Amino acid sequence: MDDCIFCKIIAGEIPSTQVYHDEVVTAFLDLTQTTPGHTLVVPNKHVKDIFAYDADLASAVFARLPKIARAIRDSNPDIKGMNILNNNGEVAYQSVFHSHIHLVPRYTTDDDFG
Ligand code: ADP
Repeated sequence: MDDCIFCKIIAGEIPSTQVYHDEVVTAFLDLTQTTPGHTLVVPNKHVKDIFAYDADLASAVFARLPKIARAIRDSNPDIKGMNILNNNGEVAYQSVFHSHIHLVPRYTTDDDFG
């Protein structure tokens, strides 16, 4: 889609810090790092939200999450867990309307961990 920021990132037209890419998804660091390593996994095909997936695309995209999550975890011994989040629709706080899955690494040093 012409005016989609994530389509432009996938096409390499605007910069990102890419952490993974294959024929189905592209993963890159979120501009706003909730924690260090916060990554977005984005289908290469433009789909607006979860309601626009067919089963094959959902299988292909979501099947890739464990591998990408492990790669992020293994990049830093201080990562002890991960939140995986997906917002769908404005009322659910989606702000970029190209579906994406947030992978947010969690550390024992996180403020709210005690
Ligand atoms: P929210 O803004 O509430 O997190 P989303 O779930 O739609 O809503 O997340 C969109 C995410 O895209 C945000 O975390 C934002 O920081 C990120 N983002 C926006 N533009 C870019 C960009 N050019 N490169 C990387 N991440 C981006």
